[in-house]
Amino acid sequence: MARYTDAVCKLCRREGQKLFLKGARCYTDKCALARRAYAPGQHGQGRKKSSEYGLQLRAKQMTRRYYGVLESQFRDYYEKATKKEGKTGDELLTILESRLDNVVYRMGWAASRAEARQLVVHGHFTVNGKRVDIPSYLTKIGEVVSIKEKSRQSEKIKAVLEANSARPVPKWLEVNNEAFEGKIVAMPTRDEIDLAVDETLIVELYSK
Ligand code: SF4
Repeated sequence: MARYTDAVCKLCRREGQKLFLKGARCYTDKCALARRAYAPGQHGQGRKKSSEYGLQLRAKQMTRRYYGVLESQFRDYYEKATKKEGKTGDELLTILESRLDNVVYRMGWAASRAEARQLVVHGHFTVNGKRVDIPSYLTKIGEVVSIKEKSRQSEKIKAVLEANSARPVPKWLEVNNEAFEGKIVAMPTRDEIDLAVDETLIVELYSK
Protein backbone atom coordinates (compact mmCIF):
# COMPACT_ATOMS: atom_id res chain seq x y z
CA MET A 1 0.00 0.00 0.00
CA ALA A 2 1.27 3.50 -0.83
CA ARG A 3 2.42 5.36 2.24
CA TYR A 4 3.81 8.78 3.06
CA THR A 5 7.58 8.29 3.30
CA ASP A 6 8.91 11.86 3.46
CA ALA A 7 10.41 13.14 6.71
CA VAL A 8 7.50 12.53 9.02
CA CYS A 9 8.40 15.36 11.38
CA LYS A 10 7.30 17.77 8.66
CA LEU A 11 3.78 16.46 9.14
CA CYS A 12 3.79 17.46 12.81
CA ARG A 13 5.22 20.87 11.96
CA ARG A 14 2.59 21.33 9.27
CA GLU A 15 -0.18 20.51 11.76
CA GLY A 16 1.43 22.42 14.64
CA GLN A 17 0.93 19.44 16.89
CA LYS A 18 2.89 16.38 17.97
CA LEU A 19 1.58 13.39 16.07
CA PHE A 20 4.05 10.97 17.69
CA LEU A 21 5.22 9.44 14.44
CA LYS A 22 8.84 8.75 15.40
CA GLY A 23 8.67 6.73 18.55
CA ALA A 24 11.06 7.51 21.40
CA ARG A 25 12.38 10.67 19.76
CA CYS A 26 8.94 12.28 20.07
CA TYR A 27 9.29 12.28 23.86
CA THR A 28 12.69 14.01 23.89
CA ASP A 29 13.93 17.52 23.21
CA LYS A 30 15.14 16.25 19.82
CA CYS A 31 11.53 16.48 18.63
CA ALA A 32 11.54 18.66 15.50
CA LEU A 33 8.40 20.46 16.61
CA ALA A 34 10.01 21.43 19.91
CA ARG A 35 12.95 22.86 17.98
CA ARG A 36 11.10 24.48 15.12
CA ALA A 37 7.50 25.14 16.05
CA TYR A 38 6.44 26.48 12.68
CA ALA A 39 5.34 24.96 9.40
CA PRO A 40 8.07 23.67 7.06
CA GLY A 41 9.01 25.39 3.83
CA GLN A 42 9.83 28.89 2.66
CA HIS A 43 6.62 30.45 3.96
CA GLY A 44 6.37 28.32 7.08
CA GLN A 45 6.86 31.28 9.41
CA GLY A 46 4.58 33.60 7.47
CA ARG A 47 1.21 34.90 8.55
CA LYS A 48 -1.38 32.17 8.91
CA LYS A 49 -4.81 32.89 7.51
CA SER A 50 -7.18 29.97 7.39
CA SER A 51 -10.54 29.83 5.73
CA GLU A 52 -13.31 27.68 7.17
CA TYR A 53 -12.49 25.04 4.55
CA GLY A 54 -8.79 25.30 5.41
CA LEU A 55 -9.50 24.58 9.07
CA GLN A 56 -11.70 21.61 8.20
CA LEU A 57 -9.08 20.24 5.86
CA ARG A 58 -6.32 20.60 8.46
CA ALA A 59 -8.41 18.79 11.08
CA LYS A 60 -9.00 15.92 8.70
CA GLN A 61 -5.38 15.71 7.56
CA MET A 62 -4.05 15.87 11.09
CA THR A 63 -6.31 13.03 12.25
CA ARG A 64 -5.54 10.93 9.21
CA ARG A 65 -1.81 11.37 9.72
CA TYR A 66 -1.99 10.74 13.45
CA TYR A 67 -3.43 7.29 12.76
CA GLY A 68 -1.44 6.71 9.54
CA VAL A 69 -4.50 6.09 7.42
CA LEU A 70 -4.88 6.79 3.71
CA GLU A 71 -7.61 9.06 2.39
CA SER A 72 -9.91 6.38 0.97
CA GLN A 73 -9.81 4.31 4.14
CA PHE A 74 -10.37 7.38 6.28
CA ARG A 75 -13.42 8.21 4.20
CA ASP A 76 -14.71 4.65 4.71
CA TYR A 77 -14.33 5.04 8.46
CA TYR A 78 -16.30 8.28 8.28
CA GLU A 79 -19.13 6.51 6.38
CA LYS A 80 -19.11 3.77 9.01
CA ALA A 81 -19.25 6.40 11.77
CA THR A 82 -22.31 8.09 10.22
CA LYS A 83 -24.24 4.82 10.61
CA LYS A 84 -23.58 4.62 14.35
CA GLU A 85 -25.86 6.09 16.98
CA GLY A 86 -23.42 8.47 18.68
CA LYS A 87 -21.95 11.72 17.46
CA THR A 88 -20.28 11.05 14.12
CA GLY A 89 -17.01 12.76 15.08
CA ASP A 90 -16.71 10.77 18.31
CA GLU A 91 -17.59 7.54 16.54
CA LEU A 92 -14.97 8.22 13.89
CA LEU A 93 -12.24 8.59 16.51
CA THR A 94 -13.44 5.46 18.32
CA ILE A 95 -13.22 3.45 15.11
CA LEU A 96 -9.70 4.74 14.48
CA GLU A 97 -8.66 3.89 18.03
CA SER A 98 -9.97 0.35 17.65
CA ARG A 99 -7.60 -0.46 14.76
CA LEU A 100 -5.26 -3.26 15.74
CA ASP A 101 -2.11 -1.22 15.01
CA ASN A 102 -3.34 1.55 17.31
CA VAL A 103 -4.30 -0.95 20.03
CA VAL A 104 -0.82 -2.52 19.88
CA TYR A 105 0.71 0.95 20.15
CA ARG A 106 -1.59 1.96 23.01
CA MET A 107 -0.73 -1.26 24.86
CA GLY A 108 2.90 -0.13 24.87
CA TRP A 109 4.03 -2.84 22.50
CA ALA A 110 5.45 -0.47 19.87
CA ALA A 111 7.18 2.90 19.88
CA SER A 112 4.87 4.38 17.25
CA ARG A 113 1.83 3.42 15.21
CA ALA A 114 4.13 2.89 12.23
CA GLU A 115 6.17 0.37 14.19
CA ALA A 116 2.99 -1.29 15.47
CA ARG A 117 1.76 -1.58 11.89
CA GLN A 118 4.99 -3.28 10.86
CA LEU A 119 4.89 -5.72 13.78
CA VAL A 120 1.28 -6.62 12.99
CA VAL A 121 2.10 -7.19 9.31
CA HIS A 122 4.96 -9.45 10.34
CA GLY A 123 2.47 -11.64 12.17
CA HIS A 124 3.57 -11.15 15.78
CA PHE A 125 0.05 -10.95 17.24
CA THR A 126 -3.07 -13.00 17.71
CA VAL A 127 -6.59 -11.85 18.48
CA ASN A 128 -8.56 -14.33 20.56
CA GLY A 129 -5.92 -16.92 19.71
CA LYS A 130 -5.99 -16.44 15.94
CA ARG A 131 -3.15 -14.85 14.02
CA VAL A 132 -4.14 -11.44 12.65
CA ASP A 133 -1.69 -9.60 10.39
CA ILE A 134 -4.00 -6.84 9.19
CA PRO A 135 -3.23 -3.47 10.86
CA SER A 136 -6.69 -2.12 10.01
CA TYR A 137 -8.44 -5.00 11.79
CA LEU A 138 -11.05 -3.36 14.05
CA THR A 139 -10.89 -4.82 17.53
CA LYS A 140 -13.99 -5.27 19.69
CA ILE A 141 -14.80 -5.20 23.38
CA GLY A 142 -13.79 -8.47 25.02
CA GLU A 143 -11.17 -9.41 22.46
CA VAL A 144 -7.75 -10.42 23.72
CA VAL A 145 -4.65 -9.40 21.79
CA SER A 146 -1.57 -11.52 22.48
CA ILE A 147 2.01 -11.58 21.37
CA LYS A 148 2.52 -14.90 19.60
CA GLU A 149 4.29 -17.58 21.58
CA LYS A 150 7.17 -17.76 19.12
CA SER A 151 7.54 -13.97 18.91
CA ARG A 152 7.99 -13.64 22.69
CA GLN A 153 11.57 -14.90 22.30
CA SER A 154 12.40 -12.53 19.46
CA GLU A 155 15.09 -9.96 20.32
CA LYS A 156 13.12 -7.32 18.44
CA ILE A 157 9.97 -7.89 20.48
CA LYS A 158 11.93 -8.04 23.74
CA ALA A 159 13.59 -4.70 22.93
CA VAL A 160 10.29 -3.10 21.94
CA LEU A 161 8.61 -4.23 25.17
CA GLU A 162 11.48 -3.04 27.30
CA ALA A 163 11.51 0.37 25.63
CA ASN A 164 7.77 1.03 25.69
CA SER A 165 6.02 -0.97 28.38
CA ALA A 166 6.38 1.84 30.94
CA ARG A 167 4.19 4.13 28.84
CA PRO A 168 0.77 4.69 30.43
CA VAL A 169 -1.96 2.42 29.05
CA PRO A 170 -5.41 3.97 28.57
CA LYS A 171 -8.23 2.82 30.84
CA TRP A 172 -10.14 1.09 28.05
CA LEU A 173 -7.34 -1.46 27.72
CA GLU A 174 -6.01 -3.95 30.25
CA VAL A 175 -2.47 -5.17 29.70
CA ASN A 176 -0.64 -8.04 31.35
CA ASN A 177 2.92 -7.91 30.10
CA GLU A 178 3.90 -11.04 32.03
CA ALA A 179 1.27 -12.99 30.10
CA PHE A 180 2.06 -11.10 26.85
CA GLU A 181 -1.60 -10.22 26.41
CA GLY A 182 -4.00 -7.32 26.60
CA LYS A 183 -7.76 -7.04 26.55
CA ILE A 184 -10.13 -4.46 25.11
CA VAL A 185 -12.39 -3.82 28.10
CA ALA A 186 -14.29 -0.87 26.62
CA MET A 187 -14.27 1.42 23.65
CA PRO A 188 -12.60 4.76 24.38
CA THR A 189 -14.75 7.79 25.05
CA ARG A 190 -13.76 11.08 23.43
CA ASP A 191 -12.13 12.40 26.61
CA GLU A 192 -9.90 9.31 26.71
CA ILE A 193 -8.48 10.04 23.26
CA ASP A 194 -5.54 12.41 23.52
CA LEU A 195 -5.70 13.89 20.03
CA ALA A 196 -6.26 17.64 20.19
CA VAL A 197 -8.51 17.99 17.20
CA ASP A 198 -11.98 19.44 16.74
CA GLU A 199 -13.54 16.39 15.10
CA THR A 200 -16.71 18.33 14.24
CA LEU A 201 -14.62 20.10 11.57
CA ILE A 202 -14.06 16.73 9.87
CA VAL A 203 -17.77 16.02 9.94
CA GLU A 204 -18.46 19.46 8.44
CA LEU A 205 -15.92 18.83 5.69
CA TYR A 206 -17.38 15.49 4.67
CA SER A 207 -20.99 16.66 5.03
CA LYS A 208 -20.66 19.21 2.23
FE1 SF4 B 1 6.40 14.68 15.44
FE2 SF4 B 1 7.78 12.89 16.79
FE3 SF4 B 1 8.96 14.28 14.82
FE4 SF4 B 1 8.28 15.44 17.17
S1 SF4 B 1 9.83 13.83 16.84
S2 SF4 B 1 7.95 16.29 15.15
S3 SF4 B 1 6.35 14.40 17.64
S4 SF4 B 1 7.29 12.82 14.60
